[in-house]
Amino acid sequence: MALNEQSSIVVVGGSLGGLRCVEALRRLGHTGSLTLVGAEEHLPYDRPPLSKEVLTGERALGEIALTDSEKLTELDVDVRLGQAATALDLAESVVEIGSEKLSYGAIVIATGSHARRLPGTENISGIHVIRTNDDVEALTKELVANASVVVIGGGFIGAEAAASARSLGCSVTVIEAASAPMSRGLGDEMGTVCGMLHTDNGTALRVGVGVEKVIAEDGRVSAVLLEDGSSLDADVVIVGIGSVPTTEWLTNSGLIIDDGVVCDETLAALGGGGHVFAVGDVCRWSNPWNGETMRVEHWTNAVEQSFTVAKNLLASAGEAVTHSSVPFVWSDQYGHRIQIAGRPGPGDRPYVVAGSVDDRSFVAAYRRGESLTGVMAIDMIKPFVTGRRLLMQHATWSDTLAAYAPAPE
Ligand SMILES: Cc1cc2nc3c(=O)[nH]c(=O)nc-3n(C[C@H](O)[C@H](O)[C@H](O)COP(=O)(O)OP(=O)(O)OC[C@H]3O[C@@H](n4cnc5c(N)ncnc54)[C@H](O)[C@@H]3O)c2cc1C
Repeated sequence: MALNEQSSIVVVGGSLGGLRCVEALRRLGHTGSLTLVGAEEHLPYDRPPLSKEVLTGERALGEIALTDSEKLTELDVDVRLGQAATALDLAESVVEIGSEKLSYGAIVIATGSHARRLPGTENISGIHVIRTNDDVEALTKELVANASVVVIGGGFIGAEAAASARSLGCSVTVIEAASAPMSRGLGDEMGTVCGMLHTDNGTALRVGVGVEKVIAEDGRVSAVLLEDGSSLDADVVIVGIGSVPTTEWLTNSGLIIDDGVVCDETLAALGGGGHVFAVGDVCRWSNPWNGETMRVEHWTNAVEQSFTVAKNLLASAGEAVTHSSVPFVWSDQYGHRIQIAGRPGPGDRPYVVAGSVDDRSFVAAYRRGESLTGVMAIDMIKPFVTGRRLLMQHATWSDTLAAYAPAPE
């Protein structure tokens, strides 16, 4: 966007995407002022361990920092922690933090997403979400051996929380309204396989039934009533029903907001006049990899997009690069590593191309016509990497089968 190298850049969102962006800007030679505005009081920290090693007690909250004050001082970044941007005025090129106005030459929106909560449960204790350091600090105190834990939602966060609670000796039930956990991204067949990881490990799984309401006694959760009339005793409830992009502060900005900040192929926000970019969970962009407009709530996406945005902020006019990327996520559950790449659609069929489901160690490739649309693996790291590479290369289905064919004797 041909910024003057002295231009000031304000990055809003002090977590993975925002931090990686300021680091990349300095590495690429930006010498102008850099400000990182973060609503949380903490220095940027890593979220994936929150539902895994931090919840199980294997790592302390203090061990997941992504940087420290010395490094940020070396980068000459003005870090504003505990300060939430409240509005963006595009005409005046200012970010508002309450009554303070910060001028910018360019702005990066990295405000991520926040956990969706169960309506009507705000004043009931014992009900938790897992999104922040503070969320996990509160939850770990309650996950004691033999506690009855009900996890609402069988997606990544719910599944990881269930696995962690189980490893702490809790009695755990996962409730999933769809016919299988993780079926939204993986379809029923592979979702059912993910469900087996729960039942293999003594976690009860209730699928195809929603939650009617949470019952509380003296202000604390005591049970969860399901839509089929049954009820489950609960000392603790963990709500993992997805997250919502954090865009409320942009409501009257003039940017196009539609389940995220809508961006073009270079990650420039539509309506931002070329001075506004978005990265990470909050960014919905047109992905040249498959032509779809998508929002990807995965760690690698936030990191990769930050590099592209830093490059494009410093690019000469007309030199911005497009951001083409194969979505990728990993998840650790019950000692297994699940990896998923690509974007399988609801009608795409998975075929096991390596290993076996019975061994809980396999790769499944998703087919749409003659194309490969996704790859999912459990505990098969190298063969998964092959699948990810095939997706990047837009491999045909026959290329895929050939890549996984056993070598001739
Ligand atoms: C528990 C958990 C486990 C995960 N595990 C995995 C995993 O195993 N694999 C994987 O690929 N991905 C995982 N993810 C997803 C991954 O962590 C996210 O995709 C990544 O954190 C996105 O980074 P981000 O910077 O875009 O947003 P976020 O990490 O959400 O950070 C946004 C930051 O912006 C701040 N903010 C919001 N509004 C404002 C405002 N108005 N002003 C200033 N600051 C603001 C927020 O407080 C927050 O600190 C996990 C996520 C969670 C929550």
